[in-house]
Amino acid sequence: MSRNDYEVVMGLEVHAELSTKTKIFCSCPTEFGGAPNTHTCPICMAMPGTLPVLNEKVVEYAVKAGLATNCQISRDSKNDRKNYFYPDLPKAYQISQFDKPLCFEGYVEIETEEGKKKIRLERIHIEEDAGKLNHDEFGGGTLVDLNRAGVPLIEIVSKPDLRSSDEVDKYLKKLKSILEYIEVSDCKMQEGSLRADVNVSVRKKGDEKLGTRTEMKNMNSFRSITRAIEYEVTRQIDVIESGGKVEQETLRWDDVSGKTFSMRDKEDAQDYRYFPDPDLVAIKLSEEYIENIKENLPELPETRRERYLNEYKMSEKDAKIIVSSKFLSDLFEEATKICNNPKSVCNWIISDISRILNENEMEPIEIPFTAENLAELVTIIDKGIISSSIGKKVLEELFKEPRSPETIVKEKGWIQISDEGEIKKVVMDVIAANPNSVKDYKGGKDKALGFLVGQAMKQTKGKANPQMLNKMFIEELNK
Ligand code: ZN
Ligand code: MN
Repeated sequence: MSRNDYEVVMGLEVHAELSTKTKIFCSCPTEFGGAPNTHTCPICMAMPGTLPVLNEKVVEYAVKAGLATNCQISRDSKNDRKNYFYPDLPKAYQISQFDKPLCFEGYVEIETEEGKKKIRLERIHIEEDAGKLNHDEFGGGTLVDLNRAGVPLIEIVSKPDLRSSDEVDKYLKKLKSILEYIEVSDCKMQEGSLRADVNVSVRKKGDEKLGTRTEMKNMNSFRSITRAIEYEVTRQIDVIESGGKVEQETLRWDDVSGKTFSMRDKEDAQDYRYFPDPDLVAIKLSEEYIENIKENLPELPETRRERYLNEYKMSEKDAKIIVSSKFLSDLFEEATKICNNPKSVCNWIISDISRILNENEMEPIEIPFTAENLAELVTIIDKGIISSSIGKKVLEELFKEPRSPETIVKEKGWIQISDEGEIKKVVMDVIAANPNSVKDYKGGKDKALGFLVGQAMKQTKGKANPQMLNKMFIEELNK
């Protein structure tokens, strides 16, 4: 049998760090980085006798995430202890939620080639993050940094509704965009603010029973997730095809070798001995509390897309690209407000800005310049101070060292040549230097004009006003 005879079944557990100012059970800062063990206190260092107090903002953010992903919100929820030992978990248990998660039964809609598809969510619960282990390169030992211990997380658990790495990619991107729009997480994958555990299994098409699944933990780049899934699916099919059995195990994806490795087996056989945390009270939410959060939810990507179609007459395709990221979308709106040229701002974002982001593997949140800078770029092109080809060079500069585009243009001497005398001189030079093209043009080959204009542009390093060049060439050649 071939790969086409198999169906891939995947589910995701996504952990997102919440962007509350303080940790989930103490008032230490959640800020990323910092010298090791400086964002800590006796509570998040698990000193005996300390007591956790639940940060109300964590509940609010989780409910926001639940409402934005069409979940039911539990009126009566609680915290449980999940017991296991790990050196970066000094309490030897993680405070999480077991049988009464804050949010349940939601869905996220993605667009596949076959149309819209709902990826069902089983639950969203709140829990605390663990610390980090730093393996000492010199001493050979391992150091524990508890700055991250107690940073609030939501864990978003999907049903096994995903059927391809492409669907996983779309689902994760959609989820990330929703969390960014409601401003509950910065979703910086490179800092581990958003990470996914991917459960993969395969079964023969038509089979009802699910195949044995393996789990790849803590994946934090879209590219590795896609690669890892492709590898793991092929590996599982190969095992079955050669008469073997897929073992249930936790795998580690290695980006360098492009392979998965076994970390531990029979994850489900572990018994975490969940029980309600006796130090924390039940979480009871009133109807007004939930209603109030619902009413104050910010505009979500879908609504924004609709608005762009109507308000700016944007094409479906452009609107989709811009709203896919809150940062691009905010950049678009703010720049448009200043320069009042939505079409041009939109074009810069979907073409050159997106291209540069892609080439440098940057996220929109990492764009270094401001909406004011972009608006100014559009304005100086509109005013004819620079041509749009010089505009591209200004944009590159904005990425390298953000500052006012007018300043850049002055510094670099990129101001467009719109002086008739100067333009005429260039035109005459080019005509004199290219007698063959002049003959071609006069003989009816219109293409020759393009060549001559190109030569003039080259001579002025792109600074000549293209409309004036064109006009003057035609005038002179027809004399
Ligand atoms: Zn603390
Ligand atoms: Mn978890």
